[in-house]
Amino acid sequence: MTVELICVGTEILLGNIVNTNAAFLSEKCAMLGLSMYYQSVVGDNPGRLRELLQTAKGRSDVVILSGGLGPTQDDLTKETAAEVMGKPLVEDGQARKEIAEFMAKRGRAITENNWKQALVPEGCRVLYNPNGTAPGIIMEEGDTRMILLPGPPDELVPMFEEQVYPYLHSLQPEVICSRMVKLCGIGESSAETEVLDLIESQQNPTVAPYAKIGEVHLRITAKAQSEDAAYALIAPMERELRKRFGDLVYTDDPQVTLEMAIASLLEEQRLTVTTAESCTGGLLAGRLVNVPGISGYFKEGYITYSNEAKEKILGVSHDTLEAYGAVSQQTAEEMAKGGAKAAGADICVAVTGIAGPDGGTEEKPVGLVYISCYCKGKLYTQKNQYTGSRSKIREYSVASALTLLRQSILKETGCKMA
Ligand code: ATP
Repeated sequence: MTVELICVGTEILLGNIVNTNAAFLSEKCAMLGLSMYYQSVVGDNPGRLRELLQTAKGRSDVVILSGGLGPTQDDLTKETAAEVMGKPLVEDGQARKEIAEFMAKRGRAITENNWKQALVPEGCRVLYNPNGTAPGIIMEEGDTRMILLPGPPDELVPMFEEQVYPYLHSLQPEVICSRMVKLCGIGESSAETEVLDLIESQQNPTVAPYAKIGEVHLRITAKAQSEDAAYALIAPMERELRKRFGDLVYTDDPQVTLEMAIASLLEEQRLTVTTAESCTGGLLAGRLVNVPGISGYFKEGYITYSNEAKEKILGVSHDTLEAYGAVSQQTAEEMAKGGAKAAGADICVAVTGIAGPDGGTEEKPVGLVYISCYCKGKLYTQKNQYTGSRSKIREYSVASALTLLRQSILKETGCKMA
């Protein structure tokens, strides 16, 4: 079963809005096991939309449209799609009633053009819309199915989940499910080498690596008749990946980020953390503060960009800075120790490096970053050499700092990942 997506709206073509409906619908269709070969965006122009619909009708089993179902003159998706499918528009009594109720509830006056939204292609299935006035539509003609959805995501998403997903599922009863095994502390090529045999022999489920900044995500995907059956196929593969990567796996939940996994560890182990940042200038603290509820474990963090600040706030010794420089193992370690002391925290992660583009020397080139984690009296320190722009170097530094933080906690507490 092939599906094609057409998003209607001049605003999307002009870049005024981001096409989040396309991302949402593509992901859902992939989960349903539908093959999507084409996606288009077309402005509010009936001639061009008609042409596109005729092409789509000729090459795809299902055509999904989003947008252009509103009451105004330039909302022509329904009229054009009905014409291409050879269906006249007729009034739907229930849609008219729901539009009247929707407007009355909000105390808004109904204008004549609102009734345009109660017109639907003859013989279609109407998808009533409790979140707006434009009903969605499913129409079938011969081998072609067209699904029309309203543009606003807060109307489209629930309508798709509740009414369109079951319809598409009934056309093709196979589902595709996936789980994301997320790793930190390993590069993409090493991770891929570890699972090359699984990738090469894969059929169902499949494994695919995705490189992220400082992380590698392995997506396991299975196709089956039901979600339970798909997850049953995924489970042994996930066990195998966990066996191979051990503590490098920090979650299998697509919603969980590295900082969230760290926050759970801090909570479990009842530990507090602070940050002492130079070249990352608060980015590391920002990542931790992304996690709601982090205030229980993160009380304060320091940005100590200058040598003076490193001395004044973190107690880094003047002699250390003179002898080894601000970007050195010794300074990073004194920052970590001093940060933990200043905040009265169990742990402190310190970062000091040269983010560039200037300031590098032969001995200390741009991208040299020292990260040190003081965890319950012990120091774990890392020297990294990154390449790339200033912002990339800072982002990589933060990812490494979070990874080192997590590893230090695991080592110091002897706790194993579930
Ligand atoms: P309405 O009943 O609100 O007029 P509609 O079906 O006519 O809905 P459009 O007028 O095309 O939809 O778009 C309305 C709004 O919905 C846009 O201004 C935009 O905020 C949002 N929207 C439309 N299409 C998309 C899209 N593809 N991705 C994300 N948002 C979208």
